[in-house]
Amino acid sequence: MTTIGILGAGQLGRMLALAGYPLGLRFRFFDPAPDSPANLLADHLTAGYADEAALRRFVDGLDVVTYEFENVPVETARFLERFVPVYPPPIALEKAQDRLVEKTFLQGLGIPTPAFNGLDNGLVNGLADGDGIGAGFSAVLKTRRMGYDGKGQYVVRNRAELAEALRKLSGQDVILEQFIPFEREFSIICARGVDGDVVFYPLTHNTHREGILRVSIVEDLDSTRHLQLQAESYARAVLDALDYVGVLAIEFFEKDGRLLANEMAPRVHNSGHWTIDGAVTSQFENQVRAVCGLPLGSTNPLGACAMVNLIGEIPAAADILQIEGAHLHLYDKLPRPGRKVGHINIVADSQDKLKEKIGEVQKYVLG
Ligand code: AMP
Repeated sequence: MTTIGILGAGQLGRMLALAGYPLGLRFRFFDPAPDSPANLLADHLTAGYADEAALRRFVDGLDVVTYEFENVPVETARFLERFVPVYPPPIALEKAQDRLVEKTFLQGLGIPTPAFNGLDNGLVNGLADGDGIGAGFSAVLKTRRMGYDGKGQYVVRNRAELAEALRKLSGQDVILEQFIPFEREFSIICARGVDGDVVFYPLTHNTHREGILRVSIVEDLDSTRHLQLQAESYARAVLDALDYVGVLAIEFFEKDGRLLANEMAPRVHNSGHWTIDGAVTSQFENQVRAVCGLPLGSTNPLGACAMVNLIGEIPAAADILQIEGAHLHLYDKLPRPGRKVGHINIVADSQDKLKEKIGEVQKYVLG
């Protein structure tokens, strides 16, 4: 019997376990928070990520360890690696945890990103207007670490706004990025097996509000084929460079027919939740298959697919379930403003029907 240890017991961990049980796999979770969405599903250990005694108890009897969020300390992953394989490899955490390291890594692989500048060397004071911080300038100041869902970032349009944003983020390492007036945001989800086999899901078109993902739509492949090919070649470069095992997500901005990488996540990703009901094999199943050394499953979509996030409010189940093709997924979390508490997957037989059904679902969903 194979037992997978998962660092983090949030909704992603919960969905990993739900995908792994039909394969006869067992799970054990480790999370500093006592009441996490995955706790009802499996054995779990509540302790801090630096608690070596707790990590030793956790890893005892496990076959492999994975993680459901990218801010697990690298040292924790490296410590566990002394006992069992840890997938994706801890180097992926190192690359993804710091936006400056991440963008430097991506550019090093020839993957275009927004122009960026690490400001921790006082560089900003040395920048002259001619360097771009002049009229018409716009940029995004972000914390290098721990930012998510748009937290810790400010759009700035002149030096005064930049100074104000720097003041708000003072004490933290930051990165200044060129603001991209993108046409659309996309993400690619892919997986690489222990044997180096790679699979890609179709790109999803993602809509954010207040920095939080609201809707992901799998666009008709005929209209996005050129972008799909770009995304796949960039993703493959990352997977191979890191000798990656597991699911990887990369988020992109589309500008003038090109993709610019914004960030990567070495884990299953919110924009891939549609795959639970909409793909032959879900991202969660492919993650457990990958880390167990099993063959990866087909990523083909089963129709026109989308996902609508539930943020801060849970609709009545009956309202959603009367919509044909709508599937409700709740995370057993108490609703709070801005908190992801579930999502709705929609599978339809045409893009037109899909748009119609998204509209129906949105009548019951906040914003
Ligand atoms: P992030 O935390 O980097 O994923 O940013 C959250 C959201 O902010 C992104 O999904 C974009 O909608 C927006 N954003 C982040 N960086 C930029 C940028 N350089 N230019 C334009 N929009 C951005």
